[in-house]
Amino acid sequence: MDKPKYTDSWRDHCNYINLFFENNQDLKDQLKINQLSKTSIDLMIELGWHIKRPPSFLKFSAKKSCGSCSPDIGFLRRIMLHPILEHYDRDKTLFHELSHIHYDSVFKVFAKNGLHNSEPVIEWLARKHRANPVLLKHAIHLFELEPHIYDLPSYLAFAEDYFISDRKINFPKLEILMD
Ligand SMILES: [Zn+2]
Repeated sequence: MDKPKYTDSWRDHCNYINLFFENNQDLKDQLKINQLSKTSIDLMIELGWHIKRPPSFLKFSAKKSCGSCSPDIGFLRRIMLHPILEHYDRDKTLFHELSHIHYDSVFKVFAKNGLHNSEPVIEWLARKHRANPVLLKHAIHLFELEPHIYDLPSYLAFAEDYFISDRKINFPKLEILMD
């Protein structure tokens, strides 16, 4: 079973994950029990996790090095996001890193090959969580990032921030970005 590339469609990605979970039922159960929540994001903030957008990342393509974090290095609680990432790319990268911080310990215990298999599942979880307006709003506010509206979940999360008196801004495409 080839690992999906992140350029694959969301549907291909989901097909891969469904097959993967058929062979990793324990992991699937534990990921469900320990889902990322507002409380887990609160805990990250309490522990000192914060965002850095280092100019040194500009040496790298945002497609290759969009973000990183180091859950294993307890004192260095930095989430690095490439400075040029905006809108959907920024938010899905943020949620990819939040998913590493939150789920890597589950992978270490329950995945057959530890962290080796984690990337496609982390990315799948990240995209599902990013599409949840409640989690999206909570994470963007707590990590003090500027809210961006680019699809339906981000509209539901932040529309009230963009209201001018009682005039709504028109968003022509209110789809849910997942790819
Ligand atoms: Zn990753």
